[in-house]
This record gives sequence, structure tokens and C-alpha cells, in this order.
Amino acid sequence: MRTIGYAALSPTTHLVPFAFDRRELRPADIAIEILYCGMCHSDLHQCRDDWGVATYPLVPGHEIVGRVIACGDEAHRHSVGDLVAVGPLVDSCQACPACLAGEVQKCERWATQTYADRDRLTGEPTQGGYSRHLVLRESFAYRVPAGLDPARTGPILCAGMTTWSPLRHAGVGPGSKVAVAGLGGLGHMGIKLAAALGAEVCVLSRTAQKEADARALGAHDFLLTTDPTAMKAASARFDLVLDTIPVRHDVGPMVQLLGDDGVLAIAGYIGVVDGIDTRALMGRRRSVTACTIGGQAMHQELLDFCAERGVVPECEIIPVSRIDEAFERMERSDVRYRFVIDLGTMPAEG
Ligand SMILES: [Zn+2]
Ligand SMILES: [Zn+2]
Repeated sequence: MRTIGYAALSPTTHLVPFAFDRRELRPADIAIEILYCGMCHSDLHQCRDDWGVATYPLVPGHEIVGRVIACGDEAHRHSVGDLVAVGPLVDSCQACPACLAGEVQKCERWATQTYADRDRLTGEPTQGGYSRHLVLRESFAYRVPAGLDPARTGPILCAGMTTWSPLRHAGVGPGSKVAVAGLGGLGHMGIKLAAALGAEVCVLSRTAQKEADARALGAHDFLLTTDPTAMKAASARFDLVLDTIPVRHDVGPMVQLLGDDGVLAIAGYIGVVDGIDTRALMGRRRSVTACTIGGQAMHQELLDFCAERGVVPECEIIPVSRIDEAFERMERSDVRYRFVIDLGTMPAEG
């Protein structure tokens, strides 16, 4: 299937329109026409080859919402016309214990990334959602429940999942005390989801001006991390600190905020972590973990929860012609809180 996307051709060039072929449908595959795709920070990192694994041309995008346009012979989960969402993974081995349990993100062989990876059978590069069509194994597409705005659903799949998974693993519910550090794409979803689960939510920030935004998103409290008196007073106050700061930083002050059996969950990849003194962990049996997306059941659970509770990301919808400008604004943290590309604005091929 011929399609068109926006691709980076090298780490230093702008994204440009790029025509390419999607694979023929395999029996368990579906084809979707992409309607919207969120712009994740990973997209920017991969286009610039910050992680050293990019191959070009590279079509990024793993916060995808689209409509099913064809189903393989053995694909029965979705039907033509259904609205579905696709996140950072499109395939896995389907045979290891993790895959059989639906925990495909832990596939023992490797889980195929939506883009900047290679197809399991042909070895061809996988290309993401800044494009008009996608072909994938149907079990990696999730039903978009009625009532969820398709234009604002994509970011639930990455920014939402990455914060939902630690909230659920920590058993967050009514009365839980949750702190969220970092007020970007992930952090803003962390606030909304924790509040919707019934937690008391506090935002940690170095910038006093963020307080109004934090409260508008549903936070009940705000803690200025540069205020030593306030930090000392908040010692041992939280059950979970969800750390969404996207760069290497000292987590020591956040560990001090954890109560007995408290968990510091670091969202996403930030390399080596500084500031962990085992003495600070021992007494209160605190722990530090890093989190990513959850399994297949958890994806559907989150979409259903968001539809039921009216939790959606704050999005700025842009046409494909503004992708480069959006990347530049993401680099300056000038986004509240997620750009979403309207793929209906893609020029026809040729
Ligand atoms: Zn992402
Ligand atoms: Zn597997």
C-alpha cells in the first residue's frame, strides 16, 4: 500500500513529505487510515538521533488514532470503520511467557517499536504515525471508546500510559498522596490521572509560576522545590512521587519526600540517576523504580477510564505543515501540553 508521511532524512534536516509503501496485510494485520498523531519527545530525540539508533528516512510518531480500512483473514478483533489507537509498539514474538500474558512490552525476544525499528519478518524499517496509513498486527491496536475525542486520544497511548502504569502498580486510589515532578506532556497527564483516581495530588516544581497551571490541571497542592523550608516540611509526606523530569537530575530531594514504603517512579529514559543514598531508602523501606508503558489489557483499561472519567490531554492540534515549528517549540518547552498532528491536512502524493 502506497502512503505518504513526513520524514527526517538526516539528524540535521527538516522533516519533509516522503512517499513509501506499507506492507501487504498479513492474516493477523489491520490497515488503518491515520487521523491524528501526537508529538512525543521521543520523536524529536529519534529524528535528531540522540539515542544513536535512528535510520533514515525516519517517519516518527507513536501516539496514533485512525480508522480501520482493511482487516486480514484472521483479524477479528476490529472491523472496518472502527476507531482505534496505536502506541509505541506494533508487534512482538507472540510466543514467550510475557507475550502470552499480554505483557508485550516485556517480550523476551524484542517488542517491535512503531518506528525506528525493523519488521520482524522482512527486516524493513518500521515507520510511524506522521503518515496517512499504518499496517500492524491487530492486537496492538486498541478500541477508542465512544465519547473520547479522537483528536485528543493519541497522547493517552504514550504520555498517558507511561504515567498510568506506575499509578496503577502503586495501587493509587482515594486518599493516596501523590507528587508529580515535571509539568510537561507526561506530568500533565500524571496530574489528571492521579486526581481522577481520587489521590491528593501535589506538583513539585522549581518555578513558582507553574502553580496556577498545576492547579488548573487538577493538582490540590504545589511545592516549590527550591524552598528548603517547604521541602523539609514535606519530608516523608507522599506514597508515590512520579518523576517526569525528562533529563538527568538529582533525585535525592524527592526520595526524602517519600513516606514508609514510598515509591519514586521515574518515567521514561534519563540514563544514570544521581542522588540515591541507600541510607535514605533503608529506614522507611522506600524504593526507586523506572516505568514505561504497560501491557495490552492496561492500554484498554486506560482508554476506557479516560472515556468514562472525561480525562483527556491538553492538546494543540496542528496541520502537517507546522511539524518543524512544533519540534522547535518542543525544544523550548513552549507547548501546553502536547502537539497533535491532524493527518487530514497531508497533501496528496505527488
Ligand atoms: Zn512517546
Ligand atoms: Zn515475546
